[in-house]
Amino acid sequence: MNIAIVGAGLSGLTCAYRLRQAGHTATVYEGGRVGGRMATVHVAGFGIDVGANLMLGNDTRLAALAGEVGLREDWLVLESGPGGILEPGGLAPSPDSVSDLAWLPGLSLAARVRLLGFLVHAWRTREDLDFFDLSVGSDELDDMDAWTATVEICGEEVAARLIDPFVRTFHFHSARRMSMKYFQALAALFVRGSFRTRGFRDFMESLPMALAERLTVRAANVDSVSHDGLTPIVHCGEEHAAYDAVVIATTATVARRLWTAPSHAQAELLAGVRYSCTMMCAFRVPRSVAGDYEGIWVPFTQSTLVCCCSNDTCKGSFDETHCVLSIGLHEEAARELLGVSDEHVLGLVAAEWGRLYPTCADRMEGLHVQRWPEAMPVYGVGDVARVKAFWGHGQGDNGVWLCGDYLNHPWLEGAVRCGEKVAGAIVGHRVDRGLPARAATPGSQPAALH
Ligand SMILES: Cc1cc2nc3c(=O)[nH]c(=O)nc-3n(C[C@H](O)[C@H](O)[C@H](O)COP(=O)(O)OP(=O)(O)OC[C@H]3O[C@@H](n4cnc5c(N)ncnc54)[C@H](O)[C@@H]3O)c2cc1C
Repeated sequence: MNIAIVGAGLSGLTCAYRLRQAGHTATVYEGGRVGGRMATVHVAGFGIDVGANLMLGNDTRLAALAGEVGLREDWLVLESGPGGILEPGGLAPSPDSVSDLAWLPGLSLAARVRLLGFLVHAWRTREDLDFFDLSVGSDELDDMDAWTATVEICGEEVAARLIDPFVRTFHFHSARRMSMKYFQALAALFVRGSFRTRGFRDFMESLPMALAERLTVRAANVDSVSHDGLTPIVHCGEEHAAYDAVVIATTATVARRLWTAPSHAQAELLAGVRYSCTMMCAFRVPRSVAGDYEGIWVPFTQSTLVCCCSNDTCKGSFDETHCVLSIGLHEEAARELLGVSDEHVLGLVAAEWGRLYPTCADRMEGLHVQRWPEAMPVYGVGDVARVKAFWGHGQGDNGVWLCGDYLNHPWLEGAVRCGEKVAGAIVGHRVDRGLPARAATPGSQPAALH
């Protein structure tokens, strides 16, 4: 089969890689930067991961994929220091394990007991839920939000001190916008002990770059994907190329704009996807004042501007005297600042971090601002069940397959899983229907990246 993949983010690249391994012709179109939201920039001699900056666990499909493309030795455990939650009295350790949670300082006895009850429940459901494929398991928990549910189960203290700061650090928005099914699946992963953070020796772009080297990736912005009644067609400048199948592996917003002949189910699915927003600001800071921690979660009650800070020393972003701090913004603030100059944003964030972490005050030199108007899909109440239904009815209609983290596949591991799932479905679909493969379509060739 001859298949086009629109978008060289991790989900699209994985899909193309698996299709090619299965003997098909896969052409990837990328209109921006290979890697999409898994990207690295290099400024003043420092590598800075401006999108995804860590991965979880050992025994994952992502780890297997990294090994297959020669990155086994570059798969690093990130450990330069502890993580922390910024609280009025200083830093409380952020939990890496169930025992960390059980001994979290400052929690009342009642909150501790209720939290342990929640963890026991998570332990019981650990085999029924899959954080990286939220379509797995019953949809019961998808009818309430994570804030309300955890207040009910564990009390407001736990929701405010742990749950909301976690969601804000890793998704940039409030736990009130998150489905409890997402959170229960996350808790089920946590109690399995899969929370060791990992990175790549040469930063996060290593994996998309290694995949792209093994694929045909065209530096070309796709204008639209249409259908001629028989097959899907990719329109790109002067070129119109027909394919046996097209995978649109962009964000849902872009997919909605590109795909001109969606089925009712595809149109409905795409119309319902929402994203959080953030900005990632990188600073050069003297190592002597930056602090010995890997990452800090900042609750909304402590700052309405900054939601997290990571010290990138653990990734090798340092020299003899300085290191890089990467600071993320809460979505409310980021939306307001999207149109503001880098200089102004860096000034505001440096002043705020100086207030929150006084040893850094006046010692931060701005390096880079990355704007993400669509940072992470919001897995909100009802969304998980809605997307799950789409996998059963709508996916692949008219030969066009949707692919990406918004399809109930959170984070990088989710993007890999989604790419593999779509590749498997395309191959299986063709076999089921006994259709012949189309010969590769010749056409004008936009500049090849690799
Ligand atoms: C700030 C931030 C921090 C994050 N932190 C983490 C983390 O620490 N750990 C983690 O696991 N996940 C993290 N994530 C999430 C993770 O990055 C995403 O889940 C994952 O990268 C999504 O991959 P994707 O392939 O679905 O989409 P994308 O990476 O968005 O890929 C879509 C691709 O489509 C391309 N494209 C768009 N329009 C066109 C067009 N017209 N023609 C051709 N190509 C087009 C884009 O340029 C892009 O390359 C983070 C995300 C952000 C933004």
